[in-house]
Amino acid sequence: MSEPTALIEVAHLTHVYHAGTPHEVRAVYDVSLTIRPAEFVALVGGNGSGKSTLAKHLNALLLPTEGRVVVDGLDTRDPHALWEIRRRVGMVFQNPDNQIVATVVEEDVAFGPENLGLPPEEIARRVEEALRAVGMLEYRSREPHLLSGGQKQRVAIAGVLAMRPRCIVFDEATTMLDPEGRREVLDTAHQLRDREGIAVVHITHSMEEAAEADRVVALHAGRVVLDGPPREVFREARRLREVNLDLPEVARLHACLVRRGVQLETQALHPGELADQILRLRRAVV
Ligand code: ADP
Ligand code: MG
Repeated sequence: MSEPTALIEVAHLTHVYHAGTPHEVRAVYDVSLTIRPAEFVALVGGNGSGKSTLAKHLNALLLPTEGRVVVDGLDTRDPHALWEIRRRVGMVFQNPDNQIVATVVEEDVAFGPENLGLPPEEIARRVEEALRAVGMLEYRSREPHLLSGGQKQRVAIAGVLAMRPRCIVFDEATTMLDPEGRREVLDTAHQLRDREGIAVVHITHSMEEAAEADRVVALHAGRVVLDGPPREVFREARRLREVNLDLPEVARLHACLVRRGVQLETQALHPGELADQILRLRRAVV
């Protein structure tokens, strides 16, 4: 099978805030990265490592100081491509309350398509589809401020979906939520990838959430320090520690058991995998 073409190509991207002033901050340095269609990428890194800055380049909210970013064949530096890029790559941010603009759920979701100038029946169709896709259709007439955090984030996701994006960037969109809200939002993100083929870039501090991605990219001081499937990235315990990142709990337990002499096979990342390996060992002994 041939390698699918890139959806987003980041090439030697450097971003400097307040360039040429005494307050200059080099937030992203020489980052090269490819996001493929329908890929689920977790972006991790400590505070100030450059995650949000990199994310804002994926839909042209920021433009490169050096290097370039190409989205679906469109260069973010091309002013004529700006709106098309923002339509194709949507963003969901940390605080659900800052993202909702209307007083009724369905009006909020309609906001984007209305700005595209679509006919009313097309807007209605998209709003319904988007709310159904995030499991919020029955809340269409509700007031957003009465919803839970997880539900508000799902409304924000529906607003992005109504633009028919090819990629959604979640910038710590689960950070402020309770465990149930986190699960709702994460499940929604996985479903959108599985069912609609939408690429997901999920910025998170949770290594458990990162372990569910196809690929984990770790940033430190504006540079990519690790990039690969979770099983490979979470094998690099020492490197992760150096950049102040944890392992998922299950990987720590796995390492702990191995240190105590339990002969486990491949690196376990999920509770069920570790349980299966332990059960197999027990059977081998009996
Ligand atoms: P993260 O999302 O990983 O916490 P950011 O991309 O927000 O990291 O920040 C990376 C670096 O850029 C930090 O040193 C931060 O202080 C700096 N920074 C972020 N936004 C701005 C800004 N608007 N102006 C100046 N410096 C900024
Ligand atoms: Mg951030």
